[in-house]
Amino acid sequence: MFETIRRWRRERVLKSAAIPDPLWHEALAALPFLDSCTDDEIARLRDLSVLFLDAKSIIGAQGHEVTPLQRVVIAIEACVLVLNLDLAYYAGWESVVVYPGEFVPGWEWEDDAGVVHRNDLPMAGEAMHHGPVVLSWPDVAASADWEAAGMNLVIHEFAHKIDMVSGDANGCPPLHAGMSVPAWRRTMAAAYEDFCARVERDEALAIDPYAAESPAEFFAVLSEVFFAEPTLLVDEYPDVYTQFAQFYRQDPVARVAQR
Ligand SMILES: [Zn+2]
Repeated sequence: MFETIRRWRRERVLKSAAIPDPLWHEALAALPFLDSCTDDEIARLRDLSVLFLDAKSIIGAQGHEVTPLQRVVIAIEACVLVLNLDLAYYAGWESVVVYPGEFVPGWEWEDDAGVVHRNDLPMAGEAMHHGPVVLSWPDVAASADWEAAGMNLVIHEFAHKIDMVSGDANGCPPLHAGMSVPAWRRTMAAAYEDFCARVERDEALAIDPYAAESPAEFFAVLSEVFFAEPTLLVDEYPDVYTQFAQFYRQDPVARVAQR
């Protein structure tokens, strides 16, 4: 019975909150890395985006007015990660907060010696544990086109959210039955170690060196690459690609090859 109610609710939302065609096409046009998706994937992405926008509030901060196009662009990019998973990966928090530019989080933390530190560095995005995803709109807009930016802020922050489903962000999201946690950890640790060594050697890198910051950032940055330039991830870290394909239940390289 609960399944029937769930389906009924879902159908109702899909009808009552549908994204109008012109708005949908305008948002898709802003995200050229999705050109390789099949028609079926795009249709499912549209349904998921409607359900995402029904479930989450997208709120402007510091006077920023969130336009309908901005809402849809953010929803599509958030939903790309869970296209073959479930929106339940984003359960337990309410909103996406959008700033008119970089923001200073101002949060404080205590180190082992009991000294309180304050983070006053401006940030483009942040995923808070059990809290909102915070985004700077100019940075979302600038990173919508992967070819131009070589990064994708929304995918990055939502990868952190998925990582946090199983506790603190540590680069190991909750894996599916049949996947091996030791295999995941081994693969990610080997790739991370290699990547950090390359950053250390000042190598010219095609992947954002920010990935060397921590295993959590490595997972988030490589998730961006997985969705937006999957052939790069296969070239650089094929074992990571295989693990990601199993976890996200997508094979973006096959998609790119088919088009
Ligand atoms: Zn991050």
